[in-house]
Amino acid sequence: MRTKITLACTECKRRNYDTSKDKKTHPDRMEFNKYCPFCKKHTLHKETK
Ligand SMILES: [Zn+2]
Repeated sequence: MRTKITLACTECKRRNYDTSKDKKTHPDRMEFNKYCPFCKKHTLHKETK
């Protein structure tokens, strides 16, 4: 049972990544350090709805 989530850059607020997660293993909002092509660097990306 996987749920589709979107990851948004916390600096420019753009939604850069679509992924999915298992809500049972990750009930809370997830955070990833990913490359943002708009900031041109790695930034923290947070799960958004
Ligand atoms: Zn960014």
